[in-house]
Amino acid sequence: RRIQELDAVAESNDGSGEAGTKIIWNFDNLPISQHSLDGLRAAKYTRLTAIQRAALPHTLAGKDVLGAAKTGSGKTLAFLIPVVEKLFRLKWSRLDGLGALIISPTRELAMQIFDELRKVGARHDLSAGLLIGGKNVKEERERINAMNILVCTPGRLLQHMDETPGFDASALQLLVLDEADRILDMGFSASVNAILENLPRRRQTMLFSATQTKSVKDLARLSLRDPTYIAVHAEA
Ligand code: ADP
Ligand code: MG
Repeated sequence: RRIQELDAVAESNDGSGEAGTKIIWNFDNLPISQHSLDGLRAAKYTRLTAIQRAALPHTLAGKDVLGAAKTGSGKTLAFLIPVVEKLFRLKWSRLDGLGALIISPTRELAMQIFDELRKVGARHDLSAGLLIGGKNVKEERERINAMNILVCTPGRLLQHMDETPGFDASALQLLVLDEADRILDMGFSASVNAILENLPRRRQTMLFSATQTKSVKDLARLSLRDPTYIAVHAEA
């Protein structure tokens, strides 16, 4: 699918990404592993989209980020590349357990994220699983503790946190709340709060949303630490 290139205005609250900072246009020029580059190349990704140009310098540097850009602008790779890179740099292995959690409002969106993760992670030695309603919970339970990266819907994740023996998020390095506006619109606010209470505070958190509503800002305040705000607007 062709992505519409946006004429972007990137705003960030620490002044980076503006004049004086070099803009990275191609994946080849990002400070990322050859494994990730190979996966991106095999998926035919070459040029970064506007939100990826604006967000990746911050997300790859380990910063908490609140990112807003419209649907179809390429937000998924803006968080998946740092997820994979952080675990790679830490030499994460199966034995290290759960390193990253990605929360998505719907099964369909979770599956799309998982497909992108398979592309960027193809050459990495990381395990990843989908926790979405409608699949056999017992089967999920048996495999869950071997997963390094989980892509989940909020209700199903909370169910596992409550019911799956040995579910352990204590080593978690990264949390992604994708489509945060839809997560909240769908009534998952209490579930997300309960999930946050089960996660270690020392972690990188990335929150992405198509819109910036008051409830998204409230969730950002609750989940992010010293965040960088990134908004990419399409120009008329
Ligand atoms: P969003 O989450 O902002 O709605 P996605 O991450 O789902 O957007 O990306 C939308 C589409 O654009 C997907 O089909 C994805 O494969 C494609 N895409 C993302 N980044 C790039 C890129 N850098 N180059 C080409 N296509 C891309
Ligand atoms: Mg998306």
